[in-house]
Amino acid sequence: MPDRNRLRLAIQKSGRLSADSLDLLARCGLRLRTPKGRLIIHAENFPVDVLLVRDDDIPQLVMDEVCDLGLVGTNVLEETALERHLNGANAGYAIERSLDFGRCRLAIAMPEDRPYSDTGDLQGLRIATSYPHLLGRFLAGKNVQAEVVLLSGSVEIAPRLGIADVICDLVDSGSTLEANKLRVVETIFRSTAVLIRGGRPLAPEKAHTADILLRRIDGVLKAAEAKYIMLHAPKAALPEIKKLLPGAENPTILPLAGDDTKVALHAVCSEAVFWETMEALKKCGASSILILPIEKMML
Ligand code: ATP
Ligand code: ZN
Repeated sequence: MPDRNRLRLAIQKSGRLSADSLDLLARCGLRLRTPKGRLIIHAENFPVDVLLVRDDDIPQLVMDEVCDLGLVGTNVLEETALERHLNGANAGYAIERSLDFGRCRLAIAMPEDRPYSDTGDLQGLRIATSYPHLLGRFLAGKNVQAEVVLLSGSVEIAPRLGIADVICDLVDSGSTLEANKLRVVETIFRSTAVLIRGGRPLAPEKAHTADILLRRIDGVLKAAEAKYIMLHAPKAALPEIKKLLPGAENPTILPLAGDDTKVALHAVCSEAVFWETMEALKKCGASSILILPIEKMML
């Protein structure tokens, strides 16, 4: 019997989101042993059960309240929501957090030798895709009538097989497209991984667990960008140096043994510190500049 007080979270079993999803949960302190072949992992130190499923199933598992939370790309989420709206099924969900992985885009790609100037050129064509609803919404918005050819995989070979004129698929580096002599002509959707929950509020015990998990995720996301900066600064240059530190509040200033003219400055920068910032700090007289990663953060 499943423990009704344990939070159920669905993640992709194996694919492009799997490693990053597991990594996020590990950074949140969940101890998950992943025995091969298991479809459900019980976190050992936290009341969370992780379900390992196909990414396409995650939105519906959450919308149907089989799972409380899910980690999924907005491409799959939005496609499912559009389909369920159309079929009159419950499509309630809320995006709790946008995450910093799973970035990709859904794009229309044409054979390289076919001219293209604007969406009008798609009129009357056959477009192969696994995302009929996102594509349909885009075409309707542009007033284009085209035939949507539904394929569940290997969409990029459809033009060569003669079953479509163009494709609408996820693209990353573009090397798959190049190999199939295709080029991107329109980006119709930009996707990133998100943490979702169902449309209805959780029971109090689960809501409490979800709150803790969300706060830990916030800490992980903040720490990903944040850096700890340490440097030596001439006292006179402090006001200028403080202005250069990206997103730092109230740095710690410490005396330097044996040198009255300089101090040590320590600060947490909430944004990335680039080489340009370090060079500017150096110009102001800063020296011994150290930038350290921050593993976790709780404000
Ligand atoms: P499944 O068997 O779970 O259905 P799949 O074949 O649909 O797997 P993957 O190729 O693993 O899927 O992609 C899963 C999700 O990862 C995509 O729906 C998208 O949200 C995201 N994704 C796609 N391409 C990339 C990419 N290049 N980089 C990062 N994330 C991506
Ligand atoms: Zn999938």
